Formats: sequence, structure tokens, C-alpha cells
Amino acid sequence: MNADRIIFSRPYRAANELTNLATVLESDHIHGDGTFTASSTAKIKAITGAKHALLTTSCTHALELGALLLEIGPGDEVIVPSFAFSSAATAVALRGATVMFVDIDLETGNIDPVAVADAITPRTKAVLVMHYGGVAAEMEPLLALAKEHGFALIEDNAHGLGGTWRGRTLGTIGTVGTQSFHDTKNIHCGEGGALLLSDDALMERAEIIREKGTNRARFLRGQVDKYSWQDIGSSYLPSELNAAVLDAQLAEFDAIHAGRHRVWDDYSENLSDWAKNHDVQLMTVPDDREHPAHLFYVRLPNERSRDAMIRHMAERGVVAPFHYVPLDTSAAGLRYGRTPVPCVRSLEFSTTILRLPLWPMLTADQQGRVVDAAASYRV
Ligand SMILES: *Cc1c(COP(=O)(O)O)cnc(C)c1O
Repeated sequence: MNADRIIFSRPYRAANELTNLATVLESDHIHGDGTFTASSTAKIKAITGAKHALLTTSCTHALELGALLLEIGPGDEVIVPSFAFSSAATAVALRGATVMFVDIDLETGNIDPVAVADAITPRTKAVLVMHYGGVAAEMEPLLALAKEHGFALIEDNAHGLGGTWRGRTLGTIGTVGTQSFHDTKNIHCGEGGALLLSDDALMERAEIIREKGTNRARFLRGQVDKYSWQDIGSSYLPSELNAAVLDAQLAEFDAIHAGRHRVWDDYSENLSDWAKNHDVQLMTVPDDREHPAHLFYVRLPNERSRDAMIRHMAERGVVAPFHYVPLDTSAAGLRYGRTPVPCVRSLEFSTTILRLPLWPMLTADQQGRVVDAAASYRV
């Protein structure tokens, strides 16, 4: 059975990865900010419409860079959804600020704007939004609250490259947006990320923080005749080897997007009767949002039936995992965070969802087996 076991995710292979890598290795420029960095950055800007983009070594580092940029520090509070990836909370805790965990809505798994409104204090410096599965959070009330209270919005858009909310591209709606190019994401270079910005002054400082606190970027553009230490910072820039792979992947963005949607749409269509008959919720996308088919989940009535379905899928050779454990109740969440109101919907979402295998090369035969396995489960 193992030979034809259907794994959950498989990194995409783009046609030009090896030739791009050879080009870098045969050149004298292997470190960061060479031609593949420039070319992949231009592609990211074209996909997202972002005014500014900077490649980083990961989405985690882009979030850390964003936290430095927004001058999040001791005494500040940053509101973060309980159902999110650890990197979002770590970026806040690393600055010595307090993570304020709030609940999500069960329809999308995204931060609940009503819970955000209730958690705002005079210390609120920023609100972090994670677009789960690349389906946008409800941005309108969050944008209004940000304006009213003067806090920054951070978009962790690791899942949502190419997604939109009311026609606006994800990652460019808030003050700071972050992308991941980890090999479990739609577009990857093994490990990598990007920071998206619209503000020119923030961009000027972000370049410095990313380059060990120096103005090397200005030096490379010939704007200063030597570079020197300007600010605090770190080394958040990936080498040209990573950028070479990333550029090859981004060149195939449309095909990857279409391939993932083929699988997503097939699940959505072919599981709808089963879902209706068994009190199962399929992942849904509100009409005012487009998503890049990063993941497909189903939500079972309770944890027991969810766990039983994971075993049912495994017995049929299909790997179908759950996802995040709520951050507020995790060991570090208890240490670095505060939870003004228990995040009961986050816990419910976390304990009832199951994700199906999704990658662009999944064959029709494999897809059929996943659908058959799921639809044969009796809740
Ligand atoms: C993958 C992921 C991250 C971290 O990305 P890295 O590039 O691995 O650092 C952050 N947030 C979310 C929502 C993710 O899915």
C-alpha cells in the first residue's frame, strides 16, 4: 500500500531550476541581491501589485523584519489570532512585546474583527491578520479600526500569494505584508520569503535592517560611495541560489495556480453531496474573495469524528492531517501571550478540521481515490 500512498503535499519542480542554479554557480555572484533576486522580486511585484518587495530568508524573518520596522517593543501589545502559525507570535515576543490572542470566525478560520475590537487597548501597536488558506480575512472592519486607533496592520500572507479581497491583492492591504516560499507553499525555493510594503520611508529602513543594519543597498545603486552601519538589523537576505530556484518557480505561477485550482475545485464539487448528507462543512470562499488554492479542508461535527476520519483516510492510503494547535494554549503562548477572552472557536476549528492532499501534479486517478476515501466515511 505504501507505494501508492497519497502524501499530503509535494514540492513543485519548475523547469528552469537547474539551469538557473548552474548560472549562479558559474558566476562570481552567489551571495544575495544579484540578478535572480532582482528578477524574482519583479515577478512578486507583478503578481501582488506591491509597490515595494524585498526577498527574505523566510516568512518568519519577514515577520521579524516587519516587527522591527514597526518599532514594536516592550510595553506594546500586538493582537494575533489564536489559530495561526507560531512565527506570527514569535516575531512579537522577540521584540519584548505582549501577544494578545483573540478568537477567529468559524466560516473562514480567520481573525474575528469583533474580537479584535474588544481586545484593543491604548497599548495596541499592531494587529496581525493571517489569511487562512489564502482566503482573505474580513478586512473592512479591521481597516476601519486601524484608522480609528492608529495601529498598524500586518498581513501574514504565507498562504495567499495571488489571492484578493474585493479586488485588492493580499499582502498589500495592510501596512506590512509577508510571503513564504517554504517548500510546503504554492511557490517555493526550499526556504524563503518576502516582505511587501507600500510606504517609501518604511522601504528605505527595511533595506537597511535586512542588510545587517547597513546602507549597502544604496551603495549598490550608486547612491552613496561607501556603505556603513546605519541602524540595528540582521541578515535577512537569501543567496542567489535560493533566488534562482524562486525565479524559475515564479515564472510558472499561472500554471501552478491553475493546477492547484483544478484539484481544489474537484474536491469542492465532488464532495458537496457527501458533506450535505453528513453534517460536514467544506471549505468555502466568500464571493468577494479569490484564493490561490493553497489548501482544502473539511470540518467535521466534533473532534472524535475528525480523528476517526483521519484514521479512515490513512487506512485507504491517504494522508489527511489536521493543522495548527491554538497558540494561546501552547507552552510559549502561555508564557508570552495574554488571552483576554477564551478562544473557543479557535479550539473548535483546530479540533474539527482535516486537510486533503493538494498539489498541482496530483493525477485524476489520485484525486478520485482521495474523493472516494472521503466520501466513504460515515460521520
Ligand atoms: C509557513 C508559514 C509561516 C512561516 O513561513 P517560513 O517561510 O517557513 O518561515 C508563517 N505563517 C504562516 C501562516 C505559514 O503558513
